[in-house]
Amino acid sequence: MAIYIDEKICKGCKLCIHFCPNNVFQMRNKINNKGFVIPDVVNESKCTKCKLCELTCPDLAIFVE
Ligand code: SF4
Ligand code: SF4
Repeated sequence: MAIYIDEKICKGCKLCIHFCPNNVFQMRNKINNKGFVIPDVVNESKCTKCKLCELTCPDLAIFVE
């Protein structure tokens, strides 16, 4: 299982953090090349592959395998 965040595309809107039912994402001061604070995948083992994050991300920056 793998969750990928395209760091170049993400704008740090936090919608994925809000919608993930299993708290897989967290903000931890990671900053991308555009200066946005972006989420980290911190609880990948809790992911149920519901794909809510993928569907919710307005910038199509998340991929769940
Ligand atoms: S929803 Fe998409 S753009 Fe928003 S913080 Fe998550 S990965 Fe980044
Ligand atoms: S697929 Fe579902 S459980 Fe997994 S990170 Fe995305 S929202 Fe969370």
